[in-house]
Amino acid sequence: MFGLVSSVLAEKGRHVYTVGKAATVAEAVREMNEKGVGALLVMDGHKPAGIFTERDVLRRIVDADRDPALIRVAEVMTRQLVTIGPESRIDEAMGIMTERRFRHLPVLDAGEVVGMVSSGDLMRWVTMNQEDSIRQMTEYINGRA
Ligand code: AMP
Repeated sequence: MFGLVSSVLAEKGRHVYTVGKAATVAEAVREMNEKGVGALLVMDGHKPAGIFTERDVLRRIVDADRDPALIRVAEVMTRQLVTIGPESRIDEAMGIMTERRFRHLPVLDAGEVVGMVSSGDLMRWVTMNQEDSIRQMTEYINGRA
């Protein structure tokens, strides 16, 4: 039932929304809203430097009374990135998110960013595949498989 992270990427695509570390929080928020995502990978040139999510906007900007037009993403991003490989299992990825209490995992293959999965992407994949397994079992029981 639990496939590999690469199966989720094959279905959702490998595009990762990014922001340069010199961008302001206001620019990053605009990008998140335009793209309909809750997290951006923060880039230092071609290298990932951290991650910035909607949770950071709430905790480190709104709740801290800071002006999003004046603060740069680099000042409020999370630097210690936790990543996963494409060949890792989906339940492993879910376990990391639950334990670390975050909802996004950049996917790295030999040091290269090859995608990003969110807890929503993983839940969707598991639910879709559960439905598939139930349908296959029902067909088997009814002698139609
Ligand atoms: P989230 O639930 O993904 O919005 O993130 C909650 C907190 O964890 C925020 O401070 C994020 O910057 C941080 N965070 C999210 N994903 C990761 C990750 N893969 N590695 C490290 N920190 C992360």
